[in-house]
Amino acid sequence: MKLGEALACWPVVRQLREGDPLGLGRAAQSERSRALKPRSDEADHVVQSICPYCAGGCGQLVHVKDGEVTHIEGDPASPISRGRLCPKGQASKSYVQSPLREYKVKYRRPYGTHWEELSLDEAMEMIAQRIVDTRAENWEDETEDGNPANRTMAIGNLGGATLDNEENYLIKKLCVGLGIVQVENQARI
Ligand code: SF4
Repeated sequence: MKLGEALACWPVVRQLREGDPLGLGRAAQSERSRALKPRSDEADHVVQSICPYCAGGCGQLVHVKDGEVTHIEGDPASPISRGRLCPKGQASKSYVQSPLREYKVKYRRPYGTHWEELSLDEAMEMIAQRIVDTRAENWEDETEDGNPANRTMAIGNLGGATLDNEENYLIKKLCVGLGIVQVENQARI
């Protein structure tokens, strides 16, 4: 390195040349940090969304590039969260893209010691058949007092916090239609 270049790298010289006498701005930046760009800079477009995790309904900005979610951050325009997200909301990109995400139905049969993979059709058929059988075997026309019941107490439904309003509405409709009256959601527990 020539003497001039070496002197130019000296912090005091950089502070004076770059108008940063206290060394708190550009003069203190390394070349690497000077070249850094926000991940959100590369997005093709940004979509406003709502965090799916809990009933808080915090606003999100979802950055998308080539059809893939690249980054999720809080939406400052949201009157609810005003740009903030809790750790769950900040990590919600993993809800879509985590390498740990399961794409196959896992089934552990009674007394089984390992998980088996099932096709979605097979799993849906098993669930439907169990509901039909359990409902038929445990149907109650009347309560113990002789009042009309038309219900089964042998099946319950517990929803998770990632279910949205519309999904919960449909689940409740389905349960009530089947005579299932024990319907609860994790968000209320
Ligand atoms: S960011 Fe956190 S508090 Fe807000 S909706 Fe998501 S999970 Fe709930």
